[in-house]
This record gives sequence, C-alpha cells and structure tokens, in this order.
Amino acid sequence: MEELREKACRLRLQVLDMVCSKKGGHIGGDFSEMEILLQLYCREMNIDAARPDAPERDRFILSKGHSVEALYAVLADRGFFPAEELSCYLSFGGRLVGHPNNQVPGIEMNTGSLGHGLSLGVGMALAARLRGLGSRTYVLMGDGELAEGSVWEAAMAASHYGLDSLCATVDRNGLQISGSTEDVMRLEPLAERFRSFGWNAIEVPDGNDFAQLGAAYALARSTKGRPSVVIAHTVKGRGVSFMEGRAKWHHGVPAEAERLAAAGELEAAMRDGR
Ligand SMILES: [Mg+2]
Repeated sequence: MEELREKACRLRLQVLDMVCSKKGGHIGGDFSEMEILLQLYCREMNIDAARPDAPERDRFILSKGHSVEALYAVLADRGFFPAEELSCYLSFGGRLVGHPNNQVPGIEMNTGSLGHGLSLGVGMALAARLRGLGSRTYVLMGDGELAEGSVWEAAMAASHYGLDSLCATVDRNGLQISGSTEDVMRLEPLAERFRSFGWNAIEVPDGNDFAQLGAAYALARSTKGRPSVVIAHTVKGRGVSFMEGRAKWHHGVPAEAERLAAAGELEAAMRDGR
C-alpha cells in the first residue's frame, strides 16, 4: 500500500512534467483517476507487458480518454514502453498523442469521444465469453460523460447479457469541463440509477484510497450474473491543494510558479508517505 502511495505521487509528478512541458493535457482528471488506474494495473488486472496481445489478458478501456497522461505514466511504469518516451508526449511524430490510441502498447482502443467506452467494454466482455476466455473487462468513465445517452444503452445491454466479467468505474469527482455535474446534468442518485438498470453498484467513499478501491474490486469480482460499477468518489486535481475540487483544472496548464508549488507539494507527500 505504501509502495502504491509513493508511486501515485511519483506518477503525478511525471504527469505534471508532461502537461507543463507541452502546455496541454487534462491534469485535473489525471490526478483524480491516478489511484484507480494504479489499483487496476498493479493489483487487479491480469496483464503482462511482455505479451500485450495475449488473448486471455484482462481489458482496460479509458472511456474518459482526455485524461490519458495518467494512463501513459502508468503504462510506462508497468513496462509497456520505456519511461523516457513520456518526454515525447504531444511531440510531432510521436505516438503519445492527446487521447488514447491503439498504436501505443497496452492501449486496447482509441477513445476520447465521450460516452463510447462502456459500449466497447460490453462488446469485449461478450466476445471473451463467446471465446470461452476468463478475461475481465474494466472501463473507466468520467462522471461528466454519463450525460451521454449511449452510456445508458450500454448499461442496459450489459445487464441484459448478465456480463459479470464487466466492471465499470466512475471517476466521480463531481466536476466536468463546465462546472459541477449536478448543475450541468444531474446524476444523482447515481448508484440507484445503475441498480435500476440491473447493475451491482458499489460506492467507494474515498476513491483515492487504495484499500477502499481494493475492497470494491474484490466485491465486483465475486458478484455473479450481473455487471458491476464502482462509483469512486474522487477529488479532481487530487494531491495539489490549489487544484483540488476546481473545474478550471479540467484542462488548465500550470504557470511556472504553479508548477513549482505543485511539484513541491507532491514531493513533500512522497517524502512523508502521504
Ligand atoms: Mg468529472
């Protein structure tokens, strides 16, 4: 757990470097989803960087594709490509572009058009079942994208087919590009809505806590006959005090003084084991 916490700080520092050096990215969502990604990639998923195309691998889809910088940092950490390549983020001719694309080892599907990832996950989970594979499919969605009707079509299909190998996660940071999700398009009561669609909905009070996430994914894994959704209550911009809970950091780029302050906080957290 301590190792994962240290890693979360270190990878946030890498994301900060990427976003500041190329003056682009979605740092708020990168920071809110970091523990979810690490829990999945380091603790939950059956994946092997040496065999990224192994048929029996678990699948992961980043439906909130704009928050790809955190995924790049995690994939590099897991050995899918060298960490040095992170410096080529948003570089002309490089493959680490601003949204996930499947030219990058470890990325299953191009995403970024919001509201599509869960449908992709339904297809992958169905395909795995038809092929007799035991693989699980994980889809990470932003809460803002739940306003897309296609999410609920996919939710309906997943429960119709009883896809218990499908586990969605909602990065429930309460914010989207233009403000609070509850102001833009109310989502609550979100868990009850998923349940009414036939899902096992698991609320995680602190979605940036590895122990809570681990318990939720264990519960999802043991639930049979229906898909599960982990509603992870996270903090946008988590880890940097002046970014936390502020919509402007959806795609804000820190100025130099802000970069220094953010790096200082993350380094201190890493030192203190927070
Ligand atoms: Mg959000």
